[in-house]
Amino acid sequence: MAMMPHVLIVAGSDSSGGAGLARDIETVSAVGLRACLAVTAITVQTHEAVERIEPVAPELIAAQMRAALAANPVAAIKIGMLGTAAGVDAVAAVLGESRSVPVVLDPVLASSSGRALLAGDAVESLRQKLLSLCAMVTPNLPELALLTGAPAATDRTDLIRQGHLLLEAGAKALLVKGGHATGAGSTDLLLRPNAEPVCFDAPRIAVEMRGTGCMLASAIAAYLARGETLETSVSRAKRYVFTKLLASRT
Ligand code: PLP
Repeated sequence: MAMMPHVLIVAGSDSSGGAGLARDIETVSAVGLRACLAVTAITVQTHEAVERIEPVAPELIAAQMRAALAANPVAAIKIGMLGTAAGVDAVAAVLGESRSVPVVLDPVLASSSGRALLAGDAVESLRQKLLSLCAMVTPNLPELALLTGAPAATDRTDLIRQGHLLLEAGAKALLVKGGHATGAGSTDLLLRPNAEPVCFDAPRIAVEMRGTGCMLASAIAAYLARGETLETSVSRAKRYVFTKLLASRT
């Protein structure tokens, strides 16, 4: 019997369940696929604070990825928190072993509470070794700024300019998330080389919810695994997160 396509989730755990692996698995499952895992870090968190971070040994991250890929028909890979430069290197090494499945990278740099989830010296590794292996990278505005070494973009022209710097660094597509901007809508911008930007609009919902970045990237990976195009995957993933935000208001 053919096995259901899997999404390999490479991410950190969050004991509160608000973000990280718990959110990723829940999302992949909601899209109707199965998840397999490579845990990159164990974090002790409440919804208010990150109390402790234990990075998993890089060779253990790589071994989990190889075992997950050997065990299952993996149709997409979602990468979240990576923690350290050595962790980034280990993940890039496994991805470089000629896999042809789409990789979605959520460049998790910090928690909402402000604690760094990626070491400062890992940003360069991520840019140099990982970006070119990814079909899609989903930075928010602060992450885009940090990855390009520039101040946060203040207007769309600036944002597109910064986005193209990352595309030149090798990312095949970027979804720049507008959740950190202000205004009545929450607009995400899909940027690809040699293509016009595509806008994805949703009404801004006045609710605080953790893990929305994890959910969006996991849902994009899951829809890509189901064979949808990049644009359809983004659109359906955004709708999924919007529905979750609406439900959390009640
Ligand atoms: N903890 C882990 C393990 C995560 O992967 C992430 C984000 O991806 C976070 C915390 C941050 O989530 P939030 O911004 O909701 O605090």
